[in-house]
Amino acid sequence: VKKKGNEYMKQAQPVKQTAVLGAGIMGGGIAYQSASKGTPILMKDIKEEAIELGLKEARKLFGKQVERGRLTTDGMAQKLSNIRPTLSYGDFGHVDLVVEAVVENPKVKAGVLAEVEAQVSESTILASNTSTISITRLAENLKRPENFCGMHFFNPVHRMPLVEVIRGERTSDAAVAATVAYARAMGKTPIVVNDCPGFLVNRVLFPYFGGFSLLVEQGADFQRVDKVMEKFGWPMGPAYLLDVVGMDTAVHANEVMAEGFPDRMAQGGMNGGKTAIQVMFENDRLGQKNDKGFYAYE
Ligand code: NAD
Repeated sequence: VKKKGNEYMKQAQPVKQTAVLGAGIMGGGIAYQSASKGTPILMKDIKEEAIELGLKEARKLFGKQVERGRLTTDGMAQKLSNIRPTLSYGDFGHVDLVVEAVVENPKVKAGVLAEVEAQVSESTILASNTSTISITRLAENLKRPENFCGMHFFNPVHRMPLVEVIRGERTSDAAVAATVAYARAMGKTPIVVNDCPGFLVNRVLFPYFGGFSLLVEQGADFQRVDKVMEKFGWPMGPAYLLDVVGMDTAVHANEVMAEGFPDRMAQGGMNGGKTAIQVMFENDRLGQKNDKGFYAYE
């Protein structure tokens, strides 16, 4: 951590209009949270179905607030109108900050970031929600790397207070300031961290997933491990948490972590085999996103 949040705030440019790329688990959650706290957001995906799912999730979350008497139906309609779904970059010229939340693949992300950079104004901040990929590395193809940083939300976005704001080698103070300000406007607690694979939280979390995977490969019952970790005091065990994260995201993120820290992160499973998480992924058991992971969902 380089500076206290308040020092960054003094330099913050206003973030009035935002956009999110990707309407998946995270993109949909980011759009909901931004809309809920009053900052209009464009939600772009390449698939119509993804946008429909993102909007459905937002409607569900606002609907729960109406049920609990925290929001009127008019209020819900007004908040929902803060999310503008789109398949094109049409209105990106007026966006102050874009959060990129597409698949955890360095090549795809670098391509998408270069593409969106050509559509926005010179002052627009680009922030990646990558779980693990180095921000300095992602900035390599950008024309304005000073306007780029990490903005790492946690899943589910509406419930998890922390946001890691990641400063790459060329990230400017102004970009960090605007991103910290936006995180605060979304009701989150931003922390500014330096750049490395996995940043701060995932450097702790992924070795934990690795330890869990190894136990399962050695014959442990995943449900019992989950129960033990719940008794230990954690809100959920590792198998359930992996179902929430998504096995595809976990596998891709683990590859980045293993490449960055080969001394402490395993690429594969025991005896040169596959990890339990890789096996789940290859059997299309992605977790809650397709209703089957370690557990089955309706
Ligand atoms: P997801 O698979 O649910 O969603 C990804 C979305 O990106 C899909 O809807 C896909 O259609 C869309 N997409 C792909 N290419 C695109 C493009 N060129 N333009 C616009 N949209 C495009 O994935 P997710 O779990 O939401 O993860 C997204 C990012 O967030 C990843 O970088 C991931 O590491 C990170 N993240 C995930 C979690 C988690 O728990 N799942 C937590 C924190 C961060």
